[in-house]
Formats: sequence, structure tokens, C-alpha cells
Amino acid sequence: MQKILFLLLTGLFLLHPAAHAGEGMWIPTLLKALNEDDMQTMGMRMSAEDIYSVNNSSLKDAIVIFGGGCTGEIISDQGLLLTNHHCGYGQIQRHSSVENNYLEDGFWAKDRSEEFKNPGLSVTFIVRIEDVTKQVLKGITDETSESDRYYIIQEHMDDIVEDAIDGTIYDAIIKPFYYGNEYYMIVTERYTDVRLVGAPPSSIGKFGGDTDNWVWPRHNADFSMFRVYAGPDNRPADISDDNVPLKPRHSLPISIKDKQENDFTLVYGFPGSTQEYLPSYAVDLIMNQEDPTRIKLRDLRLSVMDREMKKSEKVGIQYASKQSGISNGYKKWKGEILGLKKTQALEKKHTYEAEFMKRVRENPEWNNKYGRILEVYQELYEQLKPLQYQRLYVTEGALGIEAVSKANGLKGLVALMEDEADEEALDAAISRQRRSLDGFFKNYHAPIDQEIMGLLLQNYMNDIPEAQWPAIFSKIKTKYKGDTQAYAEAAFKKSFIVDEEKFRALMANPSAKKIKKDPIYQLMESILDHYRDNVSEQYQTLQAQLNQVHRIYMKAQQEVFEEKTFYPDANFTLRVTYGQIEGYSPDDGVDYRHYTTMKGIMDKNLTGAYDYKIPEKLRELYKEGDYGRYGQEGELWVCFVASNHTSGGNSGSPVIDGDGRLIGLNFDRCWDGTMSDINYDRSLCRNISVDIRYILYLIDKYADAGYLIDEMELVE
Ligand code: ASP
Repeated sequence: MQKILFLLLTGLFLLHPAAHAGEGMWIPTLLKALNEDDMQTMGMRMSAEDIYSVNNSSLKDAIVIFGGGCTGEIISDQGLLLTNHHCGYGQIQRHSSVENNYLEDGFWAKDRSEEFKNPGLSVTFIVRIEDVTKQVLKGITDETSESDRYYIIQEHMDDIVEDAIDGTIYDAIIKPFYYGNEYYMIVTERYTDVRLVGAPPSSIGKFGGDTDNWVWPRHNADFSMFRVYAGPDNRPADISDDNVPLKPRHSLPISIKDKQENDFTLVYGFPGSTQEYLPSYAVDLIMNQEDPTRIKLRDLRLSVMDREMKKSEKVGIQYASKQSGISNGYKKWKGEILGLKKTQALEKKHTYEAEFMKRVRENPEWNNKYGRILEVYQELYEQLKPLQYQRLYVTEGALGIEAVSKANGLKGLVALMEDEADEEALDAAISRQRRSLDGFFKNYHAPIDQEIMGLLLQNYMNDIPEAQWPAIFSKIKTKYKGDTQAYAEAAFKKSFIVDEEKFRALMANPSAKKIKKDPIYQLMESILDHYRDNVSEQYQTLQAQLNQVHRIYMKAQQEVFEEKTFYPDANFTLRVTYGQIEGYSPDDGVDYRHYTTMKGIMDKNLTGAYDYKIPEKLRELYKEGDYGRYGQEGELWVCFVASNHTSGGNSGSPVIDGDGRLIGLNFDRCWDGTMSDINYDRSLCRNISVDIRYILYLIDKYADAGYLIDEMELVE
């Protein structure tokens, strides 16, 4: 009671994660010690060992990194894999053409021979996760200099990894946790023959499009299916017709039982990156500079792409994947700013920091170690601000122009030619360039890029003070009277980079001199050289200093707020987050239910809006209203929300019930809750998932691919 009173008086209740989870992305190996009791109180009937076990098969053996940035899960003993439609989007798009438009019509392999191979795509299983902090930090003390620290750590990590994988087929990586206060090694097994099995049409998988992205209520079946293949020995093997479907150590059974609000949910996957423990200065920078700048620059690109994509089916396909990526970030940052404001994130940080400093001042040892840390932060962030701003105009501005980005990719080749590098290296670089041309031009529409160049350069020149301009801007100012569209037109007319024929011709007989004379190459060089000479070094030095301060501040928080259990920020390693199915109330007078149904699809469709088009067959199915074993009280659940703390990278993660069965597929978060990467708030943050029963219903009734369901283990 005394303690509760103390906490109430000091306002420290706010510091605690909710008594029952919600917040937290937990390391699977620590569940037993930190979370199992809480999870079981919330309705989990498994043990921590069922979720992660080194010796026995466990849920972790069904969870994979899909490609470079998503999660996937194995759902049959024949290697069938489920992930999001937006995660498989690149593959679906790559197999699409105007004749076979799988983005628009969907795709279902009728048997294994029709599954599409995907060079470059891989899935990665986690073999084990090991705390290697002691070995990595061996010999390091508070007195060790930062540069020594860096080299000692690198050396230790190399040795540990080498020992771990020696004589195995595995890979291993060691990642810092808690900003370098702890280190974990992740041993992995990567399969590189992953074939596309099926995907619904975008009008179902991406129903609601950009309008609904990051928003609840939601009605899209954001899923696609792949199959993992292995060599005849069940080991990873290069793509080959001799490969066979993988026999996984575990595949997730699927529950089609009715669900209720407050049911326990667990999301298992690879959240990408969060920043929960940074100081107010960092939040201020994100809210007031980074996010708004990115939004502004992406808005410009999207305005051109969206318009042109609607005009032509070909361009629509070419830019589908790029546009999705750009608009996804664009909208997320908008929601993030709103959520940060709504939850008064800055004010919360200030209160937290005041309490931190109060405790620090009361303890002479802490005061000695941490007494100035917030002032140091303030100084560093003040120095970072103008550099960060310039950096954004390079990364989101200049490199947002596809041709400039492509020109940047030629720098290595030019350097090799100028250095008269050995023939082998040069040949390799040239053939890499040649190979890249197919992909680049398949999805390139020069008029879009030209207009974007004009717009981005115009904003670059307006927003960045003239004293910080790269040299070429002065030329644009004098020669083109500042008319960036006229400049872009002239550059595009002359450049080989935007002209497939000219590009191929030059690569048949490459010349550094010719490349360097290209106007777009020159634009790129001028901007990036200026960045290198005036921003980059200072920026990196500051980041290194900040990383050191982050490490100290993280440790300080853990010491000073001893009563709190800190989960490590996300770093694209395997994590468990648990919560429950629950609605929420984001605004005055708005109370969201925890699930949506087919009716919602039809109602949205009635608005006639472009993003709510649906295939006729779905309408007919709805009219029939026969949901069979997938229905619940006469309705078909389409999506649901729950209080799992997820992030980007959790796209495609399984939502698992208290018995370890798959009940949904995580794909998004709610609008005001996208700030959960910086300031998780239990009342506003919800993850959005497709109900697994809607996925099965579509496979069964819409795609007539019931044979796939026969492979799965359904629990009724
Ligand atoms: N839809 C999100 C993404 O694009 C998933 C999330 O961040 O919750 O990554």
C-alpha cells in the first residue's frame, strides 16, 4: 500500500508498463523469467518453453524473416508460408504484366508446378538466440575509449560468430540491445528457394488502398502465400527443379473457433526499429523537423505518381510497388505526429526527465555519472538539427529522384575505371550494371521522374539557405533563371541514364569520361560531393557521440528506475508481444469495435470511391452469405484490432491465441497509434490483423484453392 501510495504521489504509475502487457517487445529467451506469469494470467495456456525452446520444436520454428523486412510463418508441414500481401507485393508485381496482371486479378498456382520462383527472395529461420554480452564486452571498462571499445567489440563479435557457425550450415549475427549495453547472438538458417503460391487481387488484398492504410476500421485481406523449398536433404539449396517442399520443425495449427473481445493474443515476429527511450530533444526533432520534412518531400513525389498511375495501366503496374513504399512512410509519419501530439509525448518526456534528474541529484554516485547527461543531449541535438535537415534533402530529396539514385549507383564503376582496377573487378561491376537495367527500365517512366526532379529541386533550392547549396544550384539559378522544370527537361533530354537504348549502348562500351559528362550524373555528383564535404563527416561524428550518450542514458534509466522492467527497443530481431483483442476510443464520441465484417466492405464500396472497388465475385459471395465453418454468429470477421505492441517488420507476423494456434495475420497499426515506435500508449495503440477465417474463406470460396487448406491443420 505504501508503495502504491508513493507511486501515485510521484506519478510513477505512468512509468510502469500496464499491469497486463500491451506495451513491450520481449526477447523470447527471457519470457520465462519476465513474462510467463503475466501472459498466463491474461489467458495464455502455453508455457514460455512452447514459444521458444532450443532443444524441442516450438512456435519459434515456424516464424521467419521474409525477404529483407517482413515476417512470415509456416502453416503446413509442406513448407507453405503466409505473409502480407504488401510483403509479397514486389514478387507479385515482378511476375505481372499487362497480359497477366496478377496485381489486379490475383494469382493462384493450381498445383506446385505453377508456383513462381523468385530469385533473390529468401526466408530466414532462427536456430537459437544467445546472450553473449559478457564475451562481447570482456575487458571493456568505463575508462575504455570509444574507438578502442569499437574495435574490441568487433573483434570479439567476429570470434564468437566464427566459433558458433564453424562446421555448420548456419549464419550468425550479433546485435546490440539496449543501445550496446547488452549483446545477443542470433544463429540463423536461410532458405533461398521461396515460390509464390497465391495472392488475392489488390482490390481485396489492398482494399481501401492509401485511404485506409494505417486506419481502423479496416477491411483488407493483406495476405499472400509462398512455399519454402529445400534440397532433397531438407537443407537450404539454390533454386532448382530438384528441390522439394521444406519439412519444417514446426508449422502453426490454425484455429477457426469463435473469438471474443479480451481474448489473449500473442504476436511473434521481427519488429524493425523503435525509439522508446530517447530524450525529449530527439522526440522534438522527429516531430518538428524529420517527419514534417519527409512528409513534404514525399507528398511532392506522390502527387505526380498518383496522377500518372491513374492515367495508364502500364504505368500503374510499373509504379505500384514504389508508390506503396513511398506513401506508406508518408502516411505513417503523419499519423505519428498526430499521435505524439495527442498523447503529449513531449510533455511526458519532460516529466519523466524531471523525475530522472531528481533521483539522480539525490544520489551522489549517479549525480557524478549522469548529472550532465541531459545537457549534453541538448547540445548534441542542437548541433544535429541543421545537419539533419540538409541530410533529409539529400536522402528524401535528391535521392528521391530515380535517375539521380541510379547515377549514384554508377559511382563505383566510374571509380574502378579511373583507378584502372583489375579487369575482374571491372567486369563484375559492368555486368552488375547491365543486369540492373532490365529491372530499372521495366519499372521506369521518365516523364514522372522528370517532373519529380523539377519539383524536388525547386523545393531544395527554396528551403535550404543559398550558402548551403551545392555548386550546381547556382548554375540552375543563373542559366535557367531558377526554373528547375526547364533544367530537368534539358537534363533528361541529354542524359543516357533515363534512356534505355543509350544506357545499354554505353554499358556495351563503358567510358568513365562519358558517364561523368552526363548532366544527371553531374547533378548527383555536385549534390553528394557537397554533402560529403560539408555535412557527412560532422553528421557521423555527432551520431557516434549520440550513440555513446544513448548507451549511457539507457543504462542510467535502468539503474534509476529500478522498479521498471525495460524491454529493449526493436532492432529487427525476433520478439514476442502480447495483449488482447480489444477495441478502443481514439476521439471524443468515437468508440471502435474490435472487429469488422464483410458488410463493411460492401458499405465502403457503396461510396463509389476509387480505393473501394471490389471484384464482382466477392459481391456475389456476400449475397450468398454462406460463410460455413468460417463464420461467427452469421457474420464473417474480416479484420480485428488488439493491443499488441508491434512495429514495421511485424508485417506478416502471426497473431497466435493462448494455445499456440494461428488466428490472424498482423499487417498494420491504427492511425493515432503509429507513434507507438516512440511513445507507446495503451489507450491508443492497436495492431490491425486480418482474421485467419477471412483468409481461409477467400482461398476456399473466392480462389477455389481449397487444396491448400487441405494441407493445413485446422482446429474447429
Ligand atoms: N503496415 C505496417 C508497415 O508497413 C506495419 C506496421 O508498422 O505496423 O510496416
